[in-house]
Amino acid sequence: MTTATLCNDSYHPPDPVPGAAAPAGIRRIVIVGGGTAGWMTALILARLFVSRGVAITLVESPVVGIIGVGEGSTPWLRGFFDSLGIEESEWMPACHATYKCGITFDGWSTRPGFTRYFHPFASMLDNLTMSQFVHNVEARIQGANLEAHPDRFFIATRLAREHRAPKAPEGFPFDIWHGYHFDAVLLGQFLHDKAVERGVRYLTRHVTHANLAADGSIASVSTREGETLEADLFVDCSGFAGLLIEKALHTPWISFAENLFNDAAVAMPTPIDDSIPCETVSTALKRGWVWKIPLTNRYGNGYVYSSGFCTKDEAETELRRHLGLLESDVEARHLKMRVGRVTRHWNRNCLAVGLSQGFIEPLEATALLFIQQTATTFAEFLDKGDLSEAAHTRFNALMNAHFEGIRDYIVTHYKTNTRTDTEYWRANAANLNLSDDLKKLYSLWMNGKSIVPAIRQQLIGRGYPVFSWYALMAGMGVFPDAPELRAPSAAEARYSLEEIDNLIRRSAANYPDHKSTLAQIPPRRREPALQAYFW
Ligand SMILES: Cc1cc2nc3c(=O)[nH]c(=O)nc-3n(C[C@H](O)[C@H](O)[C@H](O)COP(=O)(O)OP(=O)(O)OC[C@H]3O[C@@H](n4cnc5c(N)ncnc54)[C@H](O)[C@@H]3O)c2cc1C
Repeated sequence: MTTATLCNDSYHPPDPVPGAAAPAGIRRIVIVGGGTAGWMTALILARLFVSRGVAITLVESPVVGIIGVGEGSTPWLRGFFDSLGIEESEWMPACHATYKCGITFDGWSTRPGFTRYFHPFASMLDNLTMSQFVHNVEARIQGANLEAHPDRFFIATRLAREHRAPKAPEGFPFDIWHGYHFDAVLLGQFLHDKAVERGVRYLTRHVTHANLAADGSIASVSTREGETLEADLFVDCSGFAGLLIEKALHTPWISFAENLFNDAAVAMPTPIDDSIPCETVSTALKRGWVWKIPLTNRYGNGYVYSSGFCTKDEAETELRRHLGLLESDVEARHLKMRVGRVTRHWNRNCLAVGLSQGFIEPLEATALLFIQQTATTFAEFLDKGDLSEAAHTRFNALMNAHFEGIRDYIVTHYKTNTRTDTEYWRANAANLNLSDDLKKLYSLWMNGKSIVPAIRQQLIGRGYPVFSWYALMAGMGVFPDAPELRAPSAAEARYSLEEIDNLIRRSAANYPDHKSTLAQIPPRRREPALQAYFW
């Protein structure tokens, strides 16, 4: 059974073994790129390999900036900091970070009663109400008139509504999984300092090209400053440029443009409110959606849209109108996005991490998770000295499956929308470019059949746990067509919503105010994590 402890404990690389030798054939690693991907990878590799005599150098261009957006995470990021022994009380204030309990989706569906829902991060306390939620949704897809909106069933939803921090008080046994919001530029600087402190060499150089060896692997990279940097292993963290993985090694790229239309974004900040929320809000606009991310000193806002359906200027105007900034001279940042993935994330002696390996639009803030997963899984292979062709194949299959699973989950937000106000939303609803996996999942659901067994066996819906699929489908109000709902049977109606409400209300009351918790971040709880069953 999949458990929520995955969020904290998976993707932890093995612990460093004192006195162990360097992995076979790897003495020098060069990372090209100093965005979040470069520094996260540097730290993950440095933790295991610097003490084993591996020299890690990170090269960053003085003229190409980092993307500088990407301010929300999943709960997996907790595992990243925990494995590095970096406390929240150290990194969060340095990055104006806040806690994140999940994401509100507003205006994606027009179905009455389902125009807004919350996708929570599930927690141990949700063990008490998770099966009730799944039970009610399954009865609802079979036509029973029962409450199936996810917002009544999860503690994180309540914490988000009440601006409470997901930090259990001293003596209260239930940990709450959470992600973070943070200033992307400050996080990059923080990680940079930590990596240099932990033995990573930093060079400001502009890489012009890679030089290939006779066997087609990368022998070295040349810089505009006139140097040649040799290494046994190269990590491409050069962002959308894909300097090594694509430009040097010509690794094919698979576009997701047919599944996901958005390819651009425009971002601008607004002042933070007095009380600081602990959720991301994703509001559907005419040709895309806007994120609203609370930091301790500002909101980050950005409109993710499709340039096939509106111009840059139209998008900016729509965002300004949405934020009440039509008359304001706050500067807007325009960005292009390339949505898809490379076919081989590890190709010859080059690993691609971050935007160079691929990107799915930021709707569920999964990019840092990909970075962490890619670098950590690779570190495991390296730790075992397994750099064989078979290892490459296994690794790439794993990464590709992960990308496609997450893509399908994101696609479902668009496919299930019921807006008819613009061609953009109509085209999304009508889009038939769906994976076979997704078609099977919809077919089961719309025929009133449980999708639990197939998701558990990883036959469909890979990438997200059962409850997330249920929260998305039920939150959007997607149920099989029925002329009229029938009264539920006694067995179907066996759970009291009043009891669930009371339980969640009483549990939530234990959690402290978000803003005051941020002013004095508590130390990490040291007791072993209890498990939460995710379904
Ligand atoms: C609109 C938008 C919103 C996003 N929101 C989220 C979110 O909420 N959550 C999330 O997890 N992710 C999000 N992301 C993704 C996230 O921003 C990135 O995954 C993350 O910042 C990592 O980027 P990177 O390090 O791969 O690339 P970049 O930040 O682009 O860094 C590239 C690095 O490569 C270097 N470089 C480039 N060329 C050269 C060269 N020739 N020589 C030397 N160095 C070079 C640059 O100097 C830079 O240091 C979002 C992305 C976009 C576009």
